[in-house]
Amino acid sequence: MTPTFRFAPSPNGPLHLGHALSALLNADMARAAGGRLLLRIEDIDRERCRPEFERAIADDLAFLGFIPSEPPRRQSEHFGTYRAALDRLAAMGLVYPAFLSRAEIRALTADPAWPRDPDGAPLYPVGERTLSTAEREARMARGDPYALRLDMAAAVAAAGPLTFEESGAGPEGESGRLTADPERWGDVVLARRDTPTSYHLSVVVDDALQGVTDVVRGVDLFHATGVHRLLQALLGLAAPRYHHHRLIRDAAGRKLSKSDGDTGLAELRAAGASAGDIRRLVGLQPTPST
Ligand code: GLU
Repeated sequence: MTPTFRFAPSPNGPLHLGHALSALLNADMARAAGGRLLLRIEDIDRERCRPEFERAIADDLAFLGFIPSEPPRRQSEHFGTYRAALDRLAAMGLVYPAFLSRAEIRALTADPAWPRDPDGAPLYPVGERTLSTAEREARMARGDPYALRLDMAAAVAAAGPLTFEESGAGPEGESGRLTADPERWGDVVLARRDTPTSYHLSVVVDDALQGVTDVVRGVDLFHATGVHRLLQALLGLAAPRYHHHRLIRDAAGRKLSKSDGDTGLAELRAAGASAGDIRRLVGLQPTPST
């Protein structure tokens, strides 16, 4: 199988140095492996994603010398494909409509001892797993807002124990053959009424469809790998290798955000930085071409 790497930004803001590190590592590793380098535009959130950010991403990547092997895949053009994957999970009895509002979730999980996911959000209260089909249908027909969630306990039982190969490092330096631990996330959202898929679902479907063999991304997504391995197993998709890389932090030690102007690629370019300067700023060795 041809080694295949992908950089998968969401066009919901301008790229910063953290994205540059990810894009450049993917490009370097694809080149070293003699493999393919893909660009995937993760624009399922139609509210926050904008064409002007996608254009800026293309400009910034061209400037960095990131040259994809084929035209980008735009997730918003493939909702039907994600829907088919969701339907498969639903046919396995692993998906349920969850009706609690944000305020109701807050109230039910207010106890400081309530379990939290790796991002610090309270796990979803799972009571609605057991609503009868009639009740679900009545509430959906009545127009009650809902999200489709994965029944994590049933999904984990169906898939059995899972592992993944990590050639970078997790937050605690984890590497090698690691145990996937999706249960830390509880009943994750797979689709919403206004967004008929989710990050987790579309990323595993696309990685498989595009023949991605190596996922190289920031360590902030390390724990998400457990959910990704679970969905791959349930959907019968091949597992890529994973390489999670360090994050670039600002002077105060915070993870960069898309609104931080001074580490934005556009600002650095406007201030005269070259692609080689960006490589140095993110701690990569120069390449002959920069
Ligand atoms: N679209 C995700 C982001 O912008 C990255 C997805 C991935 O690499 O798995 O953070």
